Amino acid sequence: MLVFSETRGWRHNEGIAGAGKALVELAQDMDYAIYSTEQSAFFNPEDLARFKLVVFNNMSGAALTKAEQAAFEDWFARGGALVAIHGSGARAERSWDWFRDDVIGSVFTAHPAAPQFQTARVQSLAPAHPVMAGIPESFELNEEWYSFERPAQDHGMTPIAGLDETSYSPRNDVYGDYQDLRMDLNGEGPIAHPIIWSKCHEGGWRARSVYISLGHQVGTFDKDVSGGIARKILKNALNWSVKNSGQNDEGCGD
Ligand SMILES: [Zn+2]
Repeated sequence: MLVFSETRGWRHNEGIAGAGKALVELAQDMDYAIYSTEQSAFFNPEDLARFKLVVFNNMSGAALTKAEQAAFEDWFARGGALVAIHGSGARAERSWDWFRDDVIGSVFTAHPAAPQFQTARVQSLAPAHPVMAGIPESFELNEEWYSFERPAQDHGMTPIAGLDETSYSPRNDVYGDYQDLRMDLNGEGPIAHPIIWSKCHEGGWRARSVYISLGHQVGTFDKDVSGGIARKILKNALNWSVKNSGQNDEGCGD
């Protein structure tokens, strides 16, 4: 497992540390070796060939050069696995067309900032998906909640979990251009505001990616926070992305 957290934009110090610790522990659970780096120079064909799974842990800005992006896309297309966490989906994709179109899809707008962290209700949108294995259909978490311009399914992603916007205040009166952060303008419920999604990529190798917008806080992926729900989702995402979900490996229809 290669964990990459280079930041050339906003730096999520707490999130990088918290997810980094959880990933070390989860790699042990999976019996995977783990290598964490902030050096994008690892994104070359020789070094990438050593890895089965890449995690973007709050990568930000134009972290990869065009050549490094191309090396990653080539590695990924050969059956690679990618899990992208929180800040990796908030503008890092703007310098990388493939990542924007094929992994993140939606364009981040803003998150509430006063208060920044709110307890909200999360609804499973795909209870049979292996990423939601063992996760209640509805649960509460305290987090910094991202909003996006359009729901991920509009961009060909499989929505896995969404936010109940009636359970928190989706407003931002503090920064940027977006104040009203509601995505559910037609009363559709959490399907209108996905916060976790996956994609089964085209081609014979069926590469898989998952984006988890959770993860701002140092404790988000702790095993003791909210019953370890976010940690379990992360663990499931790692396993599903490398096609290690066992008998119940739905989610790509293969
Ligand atoms: Zn954040």
